Amino acid sequence: MRKETVAIRSQLNRSEFQEHSVPLYMTSSYVFEDAAQMRRRFSEEEKGNIYSRYSNPNVSEFIEKMALLEGAESGWATASGMAAVFTVLGALLKSGDHIVSSRAVFGSTHKLLTEILPKWGITCTYVDAVNYMGYAEAIQANTRLVYLETPSNPGLEIIDLQRITALTSGKGITVVVDNCFATPFGQQPLPLGADISIHSATKFIDGQGRSLGGVILGSSELIKKIEGFARHTGPCISPFNAWLLSKSLETLSVRFERHSSSAHEIARRLEEHSKVDWVRYPFLTSHPDYELAKRQMQSGGAIVTFQIKGGQQSGQTFLNSLQLFSLTANLGDTRSIATHPASTTHSKLTREERASVGISDGLIRLSIGLEHPEDIWDDIEKALEES
Ligand SMILES: *Cc1c(COP(=O)(O)O)cnc(C)c1O
Repeated sequence: MRKETVAIRSQLNRSEFQEHSVPLYMTSSYVFEDAAQMRRRFSEEEKGNIYSRYSNPNVSEFIEKMALLEGAESGWATASGMAAVFTVLGALLKSGDHIVSSRAVFGSTHKLLTEILPKWGITCTYVDAVNYMGYAEAIQANTRLVYLETPSNPGLEIIDLQRITALTSGKGITVVVDNCFATPFGQQPLPLGADISIHSATKFIDGQGRSLGGVILGSSELIKKIEGFARHTGPCISPFNAWLLSKSLETLSVRFERHSSSAHEIARRLEEHSKVDWVRYPFLTSHPDYELAKRQMQSGGAIVTFQIKGGQQSGQTFLNSLQLFSLTANLGDTRSIATHPASTTHSKLTREERASVGISDGLIRLSIGLEHPEDIWDDIEKALEES
């Protein structure tokens, strides 16, 4: 079956009540038939649920669907996207190991790489997203992991995953891709050679701004290591959130198609607007890596970034003039969202650090929602006129 169908039709078996929609298994533990079964479950001789920090039917369904959508052997779900990032790094690395990471990573990921992991002797070297020579030079004898975000946030740089995996091949390096901006309907890092794909399910996968969640996808061997770490450190997702997210996957393909077609049109119109310095969108021919984006991705996604003429001042006026857009820190919601990365998601970085990842004071990030595209454009156009 095609992915669109899989996302809808792969679900748990019906219970004795023959419900059409999967029920919520809001339970912390599971009852054993007898002492012998309890022993078999704990010793992993027998598969089955023991305790919801380890597994839960709703969580398993969510993981199973995500694995099918991304072509992964296995997966693990977490309480948030950051829990997924931390679990991967915590499970796979040890003191003395080294990470090479693309420079423009999510704000909290940056904190983790530069302030938290060094406490445990794990170090990181950043490389500009598309500096392939830079990656080759940054890889050391103790480099165990390459961490990439593509498209990057908020600069929307596109990294050639096959070029990176060609560099790391045979060196015992795990390539991890944060695939949050693309969703499984926009890009599948694993068939392109990556070892692990991570999502913040909080964004497009939930898609309605309700719940946090994260998911890690990869080979059975790698997920086994991740499971060993996660079972005992407890970054597990709530059954309720997994249930919501699994339901949300049923509509993701349709939502993402609409997000992307509206975003593409908005990006095209912004590019022609006299108040706009430049626009960045993967499927605009003006994107420096347009050819690669078309090859590596199935759609351009919902995120559009642009620089308004007049810098910080006009940027603030623009945000304050928007009526329809929400000013909020989320993205990938049904509702269109505008943010100002310099004062929000990337405010913990210094101005120099922001500049090095392409975030100027006047940069605006739009997450194009599912409202009628003409209403979205009307709001942007009016706000631009007032700025
Ligand atoms: C939001 C986000 C995260 C973190 O996810 P949470 O669910 O907020 O913890 C990680 N990476 C990217 C690209 C994100 O947008």
